[in-house]
Amino acid sequence: MKLIETHAHLYSEQFRPDQAEALHRAVAAGVGTILMPNVDHSTIDAMLELEANAPATCHAMMGLHPCSVGPTFEKDLQEVSDWLARRPFVAVGECGIDLYWDKTYLPQQQEALREQLRLAKQYRLPIVLHTRSAFEEAYELVAEAQDGTLSGVFHCFSDGLAEAERIIALGFKLGIGGVATFKNGGLDKVLPHVGLEHLVLETDCPYLAPVPYRGKRNEPAYLPLVLHRLAALLGQAPEAVADATTRTANALFNL
Ligand SMILES: [Zn+2]
Repeated sequence: MKLIETHAHLYSEQFRPDQAEALHRAVAAGVGTILMPNVDHSTIDAMLELEANAPATCHAMMGLHPCSVGPTFEKDLQEVSDWLARRPFVAVGECGIDLYWDKTYLPQQQEALREQLRLAKQYRLPIVLHTRSAFEEAYELVAEAQDGTLSGVFHCFSDGLAEAERIIALGFKLGIGGVATFKNGGLDKVLPHVGLEHLVLETDCPYLAPVPYRGKRNEPAYLPLVLHRLAALLGQAPEAVADATTRTANALFNL
């Protein structure tokens, strides 16, 4: 069983003490590929260093996270654009709209997302989207940009069935992570009605650890916990869910 972890910040500071061990634990747990979303200018070096150290397993994306969009976002966005011109990446991301803590920079977040949707088209890359308390705002821009060539993932999907269906109709996938294992996560009412072919697995580590590690540091080795929960919700064998999500991720990210 080879799982694809489609969203791991394994380069982050939280893994400084044991990054190599965390990577070994992931591989031992059946995670064959780890995709790493960028956050902003401060995370690029650490991300690319990890990729260089583990080129068979870890693959970098390039993008600007909406929570890093502030007064100087144009400089960050230029850096994203320069990196995409310089070398291959598996995706543009993560990017999107986040209004959970702060709505001050909504216009700037919208502009940054528009530009990254444009870059995804230019480089024919999938786009990895982060939306938090901003599904409509993000969806609107993705739908506006969709000309049939865009693909990608609404990462950390935690909305309702209506939103899931709209994402699928747009030709996008749902990233399923630790929230699926939470008692109050709500996905137990949604995922049984969503086709398995629209789902990919992720942890979003170091955040959102699945049960029984909820509240602790998350890591890619916990991905099988998400797999088993998803399989139980869908009433399917874990092997079948592993195969399908791996096939979907391989096709989407051109692995
Ligand atoms: Zn993330």
